[in-house]
Amino acid sequence: MDKVTAPGRHESGKPQFWQLARRCCQLAASVDVAFFFLFHLLGSPILAWINVVSVGLYLLAYWLLGKRLNQPAIILIWIEVIVHAFLGTLLVGWDSGFHYFLLMFIPALFAGMRRRNAWLAVGGLWAFYVGLYALMWFVDPLQPIASGGLLGVFLFNLTVVFCMFSYLTLFYISTVSGTQRALRRMATIDSLTGLFNRRHLSDLADKEIARHARNPEELSFLLLDIDHFKEFNDEHGHDTGDRILERVSTVLAQTLREQDYIGRWGGEEFLVVLPGTGLEQAIQTAERIRCAVETCSWVFADLEVFVTVSVGVSQYCAGENLSSAVARADQALYESKRRGRNRVEVSATELN
Ligand code: GH3
Ligand code: MG
Ligand code: MG
Repeated sequence: MDKVTAPGRHESGKPQFWQLARRCCQLAASVDVAFFFLFHLLGSPILAWINVVSVGLYLLAYWLLGKRLNQPAIILIWIEVIVHAFLGTLLVGWDSGFHYFLLMFIPALFAGMRRRNAWLAVGGLWAFYVGLYALMWFVDPLQPIASGGLLGVFLFNLTVVFCMFSYLTLFYISTVSGTQRALRRMATIDSLTGLFNRRHLSDLADKEIARHARNPEELSFLLLDIDHFKEFNDEHGHDTGDRILERVSTVLAQTLREQDYIGRWGGEEFLVVLPGTGLEQAIQTAERIRCAVETCSWVFADLEVFVTVSVGVSQYCAGENLSSAVARADQALYESKRRGRNRVEVSATELN
């Protein structure tokens, strides 16, 4: 369903960006408070009072961002920075470094706008920057301050811009790496159980098979299926079914070793890859899992249910691929269902 956006309300999908904008408002307002006192000391009352107006604008923008009225807040911040940089440069001179604040917009423009609009805005910003520089070639500062004071203002402005750029860069980097982490997780993990998803588990199992080709060592597979799972859904609801899936996953994770891989293979089916494990050990592991599930307490909303799993075991045979090894485990699983469930069966190939 399309999301309806009220006019003036920018329901952006980038909440962190707007949080950052709020934090920048706080920071900029604090800097302008410092400027108020600095320019009073330097005997430049006009600039001192410009900073009071700036503090007011930043507080207003902060409040608007809090109300999620992001668009007007951003327009206000734009106006403040452009007018402040313009007036500061015009009054005190190019060497004051007020123009550096305009550069702060470049990353924010690309982060907050469509690519084409951002390029247009950056072009406009560049023209304004160059225009201001050209203007100061022909016009003397309207309210010059002593050279020592000018150096102080320049160093202060430069330091603030350095700090803000570092802060912005850190923010963008941590946002990008956080997004990468989330994407990697989404691509590899099953959201309900927290186990590997089928695609990722297949990749890991294929790697184990490739390793086996170079350095043959035992490798086994367990295919598990929850018994009569449909009945839990039908009798106790889908949510209870989900809780059972989560709990079985936890039991699996607790029962297996660090080097084993567990994944959700299908709806209520799990595949376990056991590297360095022969058939006997794999059967023991399967039995341990079966027992752990059977003896686990399954109480949901004061209602006790009885959950069991059936397991099919296959040992990897040199030269076969993953689907063949899993298909053999599946045949064994079918056999354990046929023989009454809640049991462990071994692939027929191993028994011959
Ligand atoms: P059997 O002992 O033969 O395995 O019987 P079963 O009822 O477990 O098997 P069946 O394949 O008939 O039913 C599996 C059910 O699992 C059907 C499906 O609705 C349910 N299921 C699949 N994925 C999910 C899920 O993510 N959550 C829940 N709650 N149920 C699921
Ligand atoms: Mg099934
Ligand atoms: Mg089942």
